[in-house]
Amino acid sequence: MVSELVRTGIRVEGVVQGVGFRPFVYGLAVSLGLAGLVGNDVDGVFAEVEGEAEAIGKFLALLRQQAPPLARIERVSTTALSPTGQSDFVIEASQPAGERRALVSPDSATCADCLRELADPADRRYRYPFINCTNCGPRFTIIRDVPYDRALTTMSGFAMCADCAAEYHDPADRRFHAQPVCCPACGPELVLTDAAGKQLSGAADALAAAAELIRAGQVLAVKGLGGYHLMVDAANEAAAAALRVRKHREDKPFAVMVPDVAAARRLADLDETAEQMLTSARRPVVLVPRHAAAAGEVAPSVAPGNTHLGLLLPYTPLHHLLLAAVGRPIVATSGNVSDEPIAYRDADALTRLARIADAFLMHDRAIHVRADDSVARAIGGRQVVLRRSRGHAPEPLRVGPEFRRPVLACGAELKNTFCLAKGNRAFISHHIGDLENAETLAAFTAGIEHYRRLFDIEPRVVAHDLHPDYLSTKYAADLAGVELVGVQHHHAHIASCLADNDADGPVIGVAFDGTGYGLDGTIWGGEFLIASLASFDRAGCLEPVPMPGGAAAIRQPWRMAAVYLAAAYPDGVAGNLAVRSRNNQNWAAVAKMARREINSPLTSSAGRLFDAAAALIGVRDTINYEGQAAIELEQIADPAERSGYQAAVGTDGLVRVRGSDLIRAAAEDLAAGTARPAVAARFHNGVAGAVVATCGVLRDRHNLGVVALSGGVFQNLLFTSAVVAGLRRAGFEVLTHGRVPCNDGGISLGQAMVAGARDRALSG
Ligand code: ZN
Ligand code: ZN
Ligand code: FE
Repeated sequence: MVSELVRTGIRVEGVVQGVGFRPFVYGLAVSLGLAGLVGNDVDGVFAEVEGEAEAIGKFLALLRQQAPPLARIERVSTTALSPTGQSDFVIEASQPAGERRALVSPDSATCADCLRELADPADRRYRYPFINCTNCGPRFTIIRDVPYDRALTTMSGFAMCADCAAEYHDPADRRFHAQPVCCPACGPELVLTDAAGKQLSGAADALAAAAELIRAGQVLAVKGLGGYHLMVDAANEAAAAALRVRKHREDKPFAVMVPDVAAARRLADLDETAEQMLTSARRPVVLVPRHAAAAGEVAPSVAPGNTHLGLLLPYTPLHHLLLAAVGRPIVATSGNVSDEPIAYRDADALTRLARIADAFLMHDRAIHVRADDSVARAIGGRQVVLRRSRGHAPEPLRVGPEFRRPVLACGAELKNTFCLAKGNRAFISHHIGDLENAETLAAFTAGIEHYRRLFDIEPRVVAHDLHPDYLSTKYAADLAGVELVGVQHHHAHIASCLADNDADGPVIGVAFDGTGYGLDGTIWGGEFLIASLASFDRAGCLEPVPMPGGAAAIRQPWRMAAVYLAAAYPDGVAGNLAVRSRNNQNWAAVAKMARREINSPLTSSAGRLFDAAAALIGVRDTINYEGQAAIELEQIADPAERSGYQAAVGTDGLVRVRGSDLIRAAAEDLAAGTARPAVAARFHNGVAGAVVATCGVLRDRHNLGVVALSGGVFQNLLFTSAVVAGLRRAGFEVLTHGRVPCNDGGISLGQAMVAGARDRALSG
């Protein structure tokens, strides 16, 4: 007996366009003997399949299991239809009208199939630096508008040759509807120019000539996927040092691009998680512990005094070819001067990088959106994102509770991202940068407009930081016809951590960072909050201290050592402390400034406490980049040291942790001749112990057993490990960040979650 025919309508939501989903569906249906159709529309992919019920069941199972590598299926829904008696399977043309809900894919590293063709002398794309297919290549950074179609990308100016067009239109081909498809006959070309923009080499030999320049110790600006890199031979000290001077980047480590995992292993310790991240299609910079033995391969100026290296593997065909031609690891740092946004437009790059780069390796495929490299590290077998940008953006986070009205969250000031949210999706932007100058502000504003268009989100609710002077706050205040929601900085951190873990609280939130505007007008940054998405109470904090000179105290950690020592020794510091002798000239003046509360705002910042310890222990008195003192303090600490200093925890009302106790204990240990690595570790363990003790007090008071950890201080692996271990020993469930940065890059998501929760509360 012939079983009855069934027809099923299928809708697939998620990242399903521009990733080879329709040919995949076509192939799957045909292999199972099913008739029907598949197409793209504004919601994603729709299909209808007709055949025996069993085959359709198999089809639905395999749809998820065998989806193309870049596809991210969020939801599959089905409806029963009447069979039509159709006998073939067809791919329908795109339907661009209507509300836009399909998702734009992030950029993706060159796939294995393309790499094989790149290396095959018989292939027509042999050594072609722009080879790509539906499984790999540029996406977000070349898309000007949706639907994702070649005409709306920066490939629109390149007419496909007959060979490329044939592949593009063949459902059985890997390049079926691959929008950036191209070849040497019809696609973009390389050019090598000098610093003045004068051509040195054309497409035929630009790459070999560029590699030769790097090998000769020159600084090369190289156009990548989301912007320009500056590249030098990683083993060449003179080149790396010159790059530092020209970029005005004193100490902040450069990332190093290595040809493959084997090369990465020669330079650093990789665990399984780090290796997975390095080789993933997202291709972030991965922070890994470096081998001392590899010193010859990495010049001292690449990552001065750093026990870790930021490594990344090539992610475009151009990178692969260049690495192979240079034959050794190369520095790949962002193409900018100090803290400006990276250059991504050719003319802008030639202007801004003219005094940094000796030559430019460029091409004629425009970058539409700037996207910095993402940064990640492995913590306890977990992938932890520290900067979520190229390879991630604009993929949304699917969040539990629905947004009632569309939300725009403007983020913080440093490491800014913004977030647009609607329905169950939160679109966190690529890394915008430090919102401190006109150029970054312009990137922020243009970025918001772009996301609004791409995802068809018209925000009704706009969330912002409480700091009145942040440019992101001012941007929000200038918007007309929207409801503004101010979100306290540390509440946003905790809400971000909750969203990262699909939780909604209430929890004990520990928000430790450098700076955030407090409800009382002081600078917060060592906070214990009883928080849910909608609201919070400040339940505890580090005992506030003055910050003599305001921002100067951030740049000069020795000032924080001075105020913490003054708090630790109210009757005057005993003995002769090295930090004091090193800064003797200004010590008394700074102490007096703090005592008299002149230009000395109060702060409960954990970042400043770590700064004080770093200066006291002799790590450094002044910094050249954000967080430097704390990073170096972590690196000198002895991880085997188990003991920790004790801090008093005052439980009268607001719980207060007396950080000066830790500083006094460290000063006494130093005076007694204890080695600095032990002192640094005991300080870390002491802060961690105080966090655990405070959470214990709050558990008893509020009957809560879950702790959420957020804020930039939790980028400190040693500290975070100690806190997590201590909390677990004390029986807490601990939530930490993974998919979203714990630093201010995650603030926009937290703001959106808070605004969304308040919006729901208002309506309900
Ligand atoms: Zn490919
Ligand atoms: Zn072609
Ligand atoms: Fe923060």
